[in-house]
Amino acid sequence: MAEEVVVFSSLNPTEVHLVRSMLTREGIGSRVQGQFRTGLAGEIPVDDARTELFVPAPRAAEATVIIDAARAAADVERPCPACGESNPGAFELCWSCGADIPDGPHLRVAGR
Ligand SMILES: [Zn+2]
Repeated sequence: MAEEVVVFSSLNPTEVHLVRSMLTREGIGSRVQGQFRTGLAGEIPVDDARTELFVPAPRAAEATVIIDAARAAADVERPCPACGESNPGAFELCWSCGADIPDGPHLRVAGR
């Protein structure tokens, strides 16, 4: 069994699973741990309630680059090609007119 390291963690298990599916698309296998403890948030130290995402140690640097890129992209406002309204980077459709926004990231990753 290869050594594993945590590349992402969140109090929101859904977010961790989104990151996991993003890594899976990039061909990086990962494992989620701790998601069943989240219901205890507030009763136990917060750091213990986090859901964590593990990847094999040799893939950690690669996974971190992908996660950081998704975070950065989600923070960038992009104009709608149809109506010119500014949309948050995570939007795939314009909030104003509903047009497709090309080349958008498909994941919103909140900061830790
Ligand atoms: Zn628009």
